[in-house]
Amino acid sequence: MKTKIEFLNDYKKLGVIGSPINHSLSPLMQNYMIKKLDIPFMYLPFHVGKNQLKDFFKAAELLEIGGFNCTIPHKEESYLLCDRVFGDALVSKSVNTVKYFEGKFLGYSTDGEGFNLSLTENGASFENKKILLIGAGGAARALVITGFNKGADFFTVINRNIERGKDILKDFENSEVLPFEENIINQKIKESDIIINCTPLGMESFKGDFSDIVFPDNEKKVVCDLIYKPSCTKFLKAAKEKGHLVINGLGMLIYQGILALQIFTDREIDVFEMKKDVEAYIIKALGGLS
Ligand code: NAP
Repeated sequence: MKTKIEFLNDYKKLGVIGSPINHSLSPLMQNYMIKKLDIPFMYLPFHVGKNQLKDFFKAAELLEIGGFNCTIPHKEESYLLCDRVFGDALVSKSVNTVKYFEGKFLGYSTDGEGFNLSLTENGASFENKKILLIGAGGAARALVITGFNKGADFFTVINRNIERGKDILKDFENSEVLPFEENIINQKIKESDIIINCTPLGMESFKGDFSDIVFPDNEKKVVCDLIYKPSCTKFLKAAKEKGHLVINGLGMLIYQGILALQIFTDREIDVFEMKKDVEAYIIKALGGLS
């Protein structure tokens, strides 16, 4: 039988890399799940600057790390450093989850499926829907890929930088890119079934917000914001007032983390059960999320 010390020293190290990293909720969330599942892992934040990624991959090999999540600015470059890449990550050419297994770095993206699970939990789905995305960054790209995989009918992407919008839609026919203008946003909201804010507009400590967003009041739409702090942005508040179903970004954050932990540990986790627990824990640990 192993001693307590030997047992502790067998723990596999997991982590999240990014710059900045001290705001990340991943260590709090992952260590809670690890404890709950009673599995021999530990999860740490690693500050890795933009030019330090290759060094981090070498260090990960040396330390025989179990795996790590990637956040800004490492999702695209980590994709290039992986030995093999799977699923949505192959199309998005970016990874948020890297598993180190038998000397190889294996890359995955769980952001899109994380968002999809959040829709499912709320009784909604991409299937046969017209989707409006405001924003065309990494998160929007993940949603386009998952959305079409899950049977979305049409994607409209509205973005300041039109070229960026065109780039995320270049492999998909049923789609259009439009400029970020108030009248266009309001018109497309009327024509879409699911509307998702994929910009930081409305985020705490971000300068700027949606000014005159108008949601119609004659039909029920699904309105999502990838932001979770504040938990109800001005964008969601405006939709809620008109009776639409609103979903913030906390669900996506938690589900992508649960999916990543499944990959790191090769364990099946009851994602909906675990999400409820983790959500309650995070909200309590942070003293609320409004
Ligand atoms: P990103 O790659 O940096 O893209 C940012 C997007 O926002 C771009 O389309 C950018 O437009 C647009 N934008 C930024 N400032 C703007 C402004 N002042 N007015 C209009 N548009 C503006 O970021 P990302 O990774 O896609 O993340 C986007 C948002 O989703 C962030 O708020 C992030 O926190 C959130 N997110 C949440 C989760 C979650 O799990 N809940 C996961 C990932 C991301 P241009 O292209 O024109 O610059």
